[in-house]
Amino acid sequence: MASQKMLTELNNQIQEEIFSSYLYLSMAACFADKNLNGCAQWMTIQSQEEYAHAMKFYQYVLDIGGRVELQAIQKPDFEWPTPLSMFEGALAHEKHVTGRINLLVDIAVEEKDHATNNFLTFFVGEQVEEEANATQIVENFKMVGDNIQGLYMLDKELGARQV
Ligand code: MG
Repeated sequence: MASQKMLTELNNQIQEEIFSSYLYLSMAACFADKNLNGCAQWMTIQSQEEYAHAMKFYQYVLDIGGRVELQAIQKPDFEWPTPLSMFEGALAHEKHVTGRINLLVDIAVEEKDHATNNFLTFFVGEQVEEEANATQIVENFKMVGDNIQGLYMLDKELGARQV
């Protein structure tokens, strides 16, 4: 059984992951509004992935006999000026989530909570992947700049993302 401090942070992480899902869904809607349907598709899948992350934490808390206590979800941003600014926002958010996962690992190590530490290993790896993906897309949008054809191609490419 995890400590109360660990349980509190695991519960907070359910909120963080649900908020991530909410944020990316808001970005998907903004992309759809701009007729960038490939980007919207990418963000919709990203949103679903974040929901799945939330459910992994949810299930883990139940598995260790803890009580799930859901927290309030704040309103995500609604409007972004450019596709680049959206993916920069996604990258900044993923860096924040990496900080959260590192905090959880720090607590698990401190408390010699090997089970939670082991559970978190997936998320440590996942965050490396998330940051790498977002960084690559940010760089792609920088490369394309104001080129409409490039934007069209990049939107198509991102729309090819599968679950
Ligand atoms: Mg996540």
